Amino acid sequence: EHRIHTVRVTLTDNTNITRSRYVPAKAFLQSISEQGINYPSALFSMDTSAKLVTGAGDGYEGGYPSWLLQPDLSTFVVLPWVSGTARVIADIVRPGGEPIPVSPRQVLKNLLKQLNDVGLTMKGAFEFEFYVFRQQGDSLEPSWQGFNCFSDVNQAQVGDIFTAIIQGLEGIGAGPEVANTEYGPGQFEITNSPFNGVAAADMAIYYRSSIKEILTQKGYTATFMGKPKCDASGSGGHFHFSLYNALGQNVFHDPEAKDGLSDLCRWAIGGQLRHARAICGVVNSTVNSYKRLQPYSFAPINASWGHEHRCAMIRVPYVRGENTRLENRLPAADTNPYLAAAAILAASLDGIKNQIEPPACSDGLNPYEQTDLVKLPATLPEALEELQRDQVICAYLGREFIRHYVALRMSEWQRYQRHISNWEIKEYFELF
Ligand code: GLU
Ligand code: MG
Ligand code: MG
Repeated sequence: EHRIHTVRVTLTDNTNITRSRYVPAKAFLQSISEQGINYPSALFSMDTSAKLVTGAGDGYEGGYPSWLLQPDLSTFVVLPWVSGTARVIADIVRPGGEPIPVSPRQVLKNLLKQLNDVGLTMKGAFEFEFYVFRQQGDSLEPSWQGFNCFSDVNQAQVGDIFTAIIQGLEGIGAGPEVANTEYGPGQFEITNSPFNGVAAADMAIYYRSSIKEILTQKGYTATFMGKPKCDASGSGGHFHFSLYNALGQNVFHDPEAKDGLSDLCRWAIGGQLRHARAICGVVNSTVNSYKRLQPYSFAPINASWGHEHRCAMIRVPYVRGENTRLENRLPAADTNPYLAAAAILAASLDGIKNQIEPPACSDGLNPYEQTDLVKLPATLPEALEELQRDQVICAYLGREFIRHYVALRMSEWQRYQRHISNWEIKEYFELF
């Protein structure tokens, strides 16, 4: 019907790189009725500089054998902005079908299963901010200038960007809801509708890749890195989610409670706050993500919560009833959606199972000045230490995954630490 000639088979790894193999339609049809599509396991063990740092795939001794991509046909979308091309997200398995425990999509599936074991399902959405630049001579300049969020004057400069993204995301069923410019010059936010279970993270992957691709076609460059400019607003990847029981009822809502939140919802908050320092290492996975967690930035700096509170780590939006939900504001836009959802659900589940009460909420208080709250880690290695120490989160996400993930992240940190930045040269070179 759509005259598809190529299918991109996509997965996202622990370096948080979304990669695809382009498969001709005929071969694709054959592969789904047979084993799957070969995928080099070595790619799973490379850091962002393509250095092999871990032994998933049994390392050099094991010869980094082929794994197989198994397309999940429920994720199949036709891309309106590239003719004859469709896209599908795949699981990754060993030949023979054994799942790979370090695969982010598998880690989230395991968590959803554990949630299921206590009769719960999740619906969620990532709310990404991102910057769009345009090439001007040799440099990349913000696509719009100024700091006036939502301003008609600014937004009119970039009407083509809004149109292209909204049409593209609608075309793949990603359900964009509201689009506007944000606080930083060149910054945007486009929210999308929630999806059930693993689809919430799949959609987040499609969302980011699609925006980058659509804008590249138009001569722009989009970035979802957490803090692209030190003196401008960072880009959050806030995770909104609700939990439902087997009857499809929202279990965060309790019409009898004073604030309309159930005990279970409060415990989910309690769990996320207790494990905040560990989950930070998962949801903020790059060196740069930590530069976003600054006071007075609308990004959190401590384990806090509040009703409609945008300076706290967890904001409880005012909506009640079927859409009662929590917004975890900790993830940066460069977060790995599978791992972020898994870590936040793991902490919530621990809160629910152990009836963990959260500390007093920050309603009427300024969390940026509160000294009685647990501080979030300031750097990637500090957060990774916390992650490895948190036995509960390690057990939920799987120890093999934690080892693999921490090795990849630490390799990035070590490269960063060896690097001499322009800031250091400017600050010290002449002075000493
Ligand atoms: N840019 C802020 C962040 O990094 C969020 C601002 C907002 O609430 O829209 O999380
Ligand atoms: Mg925003
Ligand atoms: Mg938000």
